[in-house]
Amino acid sequence: MSRQAGLAGGAPAGCKGCSGTASVHVPPEKLERLIQMAVQNRPAASDDEYARRLAVCSGCQGLQYGTTCRYCGCLVAVRASQRDAGCPYPLQSRWESAGPQDAVTS
Ligand code: SF4
Repeated sequence: MSRQAGLAGGAPAGCKGCSGTASVHVPPEKLERLIQMAVQNRPAASDDEYARRLAVCSGCQGLQYGTTCRYCGCLVAVRASQRDAGCPYPLQSRWESAGPQDAVTS
């Protein structure tokens, strides 16, 4: 199936935001699995950097449902787990403006 197939007749049938029946909330165990997958083949952020990023997200107006960034649609815990990932806040990364980051060497 083509990637465009779901857009042909309007909103895709499985759209969580439009269906009114599916939850946008992600259970902790599923979130943990997604984080493990996200750093399987990419460098992981240190525990301190991960915690720092999530602290920034928790105070950000872009955080929705306690899990999701409104600017990129990512689960912030998954994005924050990847060392070389960035914050998509418009004009200025909130992660960078909030303090030190892990050094990115690759
Ligand atoms: S804009 Fe940046 S700080 Fe805000 S929720 Fe998204 S990733 Fe987190």
